[in-house]
Amino acid sequence: MTAQIINGKAIAETTLTETKSLIDKRLAKGLRAPTLAVILLGADPASAIYVRNKRLACEKTGIRSLAYDLPASTSEAELLALIDKLNHDDEVDGILVQSPFPAHIEEKKIIETISASKDVDGFHAYNIGRLAVRQPTLRSCTPYGVIKLLQSTGIKLLGLDAVVVGVSNHVGRPMALELLLAGCTVTSCHRHTKSLQSHIERADIVVAAAGKPHLVKGEWIKPGAVVIDIGINRLADGSLCGDVEFATAKERAGWITPVPGGVGPMTVATLMQNTLTALELRESSLIPA
Ligand code: NAD
Repeated sequence: MTAQIINGKAIAETTLTETKSLIDKRLAKGLRAPTLAVILLGADPASAIYVRNKRLACEKTGIRSLAYDLPASTSEAELLALIDKLNHDDEVDGILVQSPFPAHIEEKKIIETISASKDVDGFHAYNIGRLAVRQPTLRSCTPYGVIKLLQSTGIKLLGLDAVVVGVSNHVGRPMALELLLAGCTVTSCHRHTKSLQSHIERADIVVAAAGKPHLVKGEWIKPGAVVIDIGINRLADGSLCGDVEFATAKERAGWITPVPGGVGPMTVATLMQNTLTALELRESSLIPA
């Protein structure tokens, strides 16, 4: 069997077009466009590319983008003051601080300072908690994007055995909660899991988010399974690869995402959708400030 490729780039484009059309409808009614504030600290080349892609997606969808490109030496107090100002700005709907953070800045403090109603990354404990109690509001971009990729296959998720590799707060954990919400039977694996292989071998859905090149071997994949590779790893030769052995996994899986061109573009598209959702939720007072 050779897997069907889940074309994240194309599915993300469709999501962007849908978001643009909703924003156009708002403008036609005399309502304002959503606004996203993107804060970049320092000059890490990978972060600069991610931020550029997010700003380009804002342009494509008609979202107003505010750029705060700050030096890496920006103090935590200065950053917190900027976030506080943006939290109180009624015209700002989403606030995002691009990771990784300089060592002198405590990421947890920054995330918890961004108002839950403007947390378009879906990282705030309030938003993760809403997902945990099956009342999602602003959903973590990457896991929510993965759900859309899974839905694009047309496969019914209810009752399927899903294995998530990785349990980070931003990716693995909310991913497991999303799959639970979709009705899957979910197993979360992590660095202390005794036999990763035995869990993967019985999974109908494998979602890899460990950040370890080729951790998931192709021969472990159950024939016909759906394989979603969130991992982005840069190899010594400069090329990118995921956490799954793509070439061998493709010969066993029913569906598989490539790296790049799979989950990455969907994360950005979901961020745009979240920015519009954040504005709508605040307009309808459905989310506390
Ligand atoms: P992280 O380092 O915070 O978490 C990694 C997780 O993997 C941990 O929970 C750890 O227990 C687990 N892990 C590590 N080694 C393992 C092993 N041998 N077996 C089983 N589990 C193991 O990373 P993260 O922020 O969750 O990101 C994970 C990957 O996803 C990275 O490659 C990152 O670049 C990528 N990522 C991609 C997107 C996207 O849009 N495609 C978005 C976010 C993150």
